[in-house]
Amino acid sequence: MSVRSTEHRWFDLGAAALDRLLVPKLGDKYVCPLCRDSFDRSQIATDLTVEHAPPSSIGGRGIALTCRACNSRSGSQLDAELLHHHNTRQLARGGTAVYEDVETTQEGTLARGRLAIGPEGLRFDPIERQNHPERLQEHLEVSSRWAQTPLAGREITMRIPIRGNPRLADLSLIRAAFLVAFATFGYVYALQTAFEVLIKQLHSPNEQLIDPLPIFYDDSSPDDLREIALVTRPHLLRSVIVRIGPAAIFLPLEWDDRFFEDFDDRRREFVAGVTDPAAFSLGVERFDWPTSPQHLWDGVERQTT
Ligand SMILES: [Zn+2]
Repeated sequence: MSVRSTEHRWFDLGAAALDRLLVPKLGDKYVCPLCRDSFDRSQIATDLTVEHAPPSSIGGRGIALTCRACNSRSGSQLDAELLHHHNTRQLARGGTAVYEDVETTQEGTLARGRLAIGPEGLRFDPIERQNHPERLQEHLEVSSRWAQTPLAGREITMRIPIRGNPRLADLSLIRAAFLVAFATFGYVYALQTAFEVLIKQLHSPNEQLIDPLPIFYDDSSPDDLREIALVTRPHLLRSVIVRIGPAAIFLPLEWDDRFFEDFDDRRREFVAGVTDPAAFSLGVERFDWPTSPQHLWDGVERQTT
């Protein structure tokens, strides 16, 4: 028996789900949940990638197959903003912040890599593929010489790219929440028309197509909190809730076409009607956090491998 790649197994699951759901049939194709473009089997190696949600930089794992264009489009912008937001939070809490693409100069030798700032101090690790091999060697020689002699009077320069657009960080989390919901429930959930505006928003992150965004923060939640649930009660708040660390993201539950336009009004109407917050509780139905595509609502036979 040959060992099939994760990409092949997840392609098969997605194609089987689409084959059940769509009329007319697409044939043996996979649809990227983020752009809804279709891909055939010959494109698995070149055009489809395992996507991490939340991004791996904040501790997420690969849970769904998306197309390479969607994956890299977000990686370069939204996820970098999310990492910055996460770092700021870590520093405020006395934790460790990790910055990528940092440039360090010592005695005229420059190296690029990753910088960790935390209670233990500063730690810079050059990344081999980001550096010219000879320049890196020179830099490492300077570093090892510095490590053996007193540092007083020496000068080190660091360039840390700082970002600061909280809305883009929020969009990165909403994108991750959508992928988690896709991995849990499948295409019957992710292809609903309510998501069209979200998909447009993710492709044009600098426009304000959804405002306000349906995301809320609870700073008392631990960073490793991961939860997906249906909010079934009260009726005004019917939704899918995805919790990633301190962020709670609300997504439509079922064929709720104006969800993103109306959610904030519904939330306000609900809050205005609550007379006794202490007696209030949400009706929720929890699901296991996905570690691979589950397609729970697509009606496909899932393999255990
Ligand atoms: Zn795509």
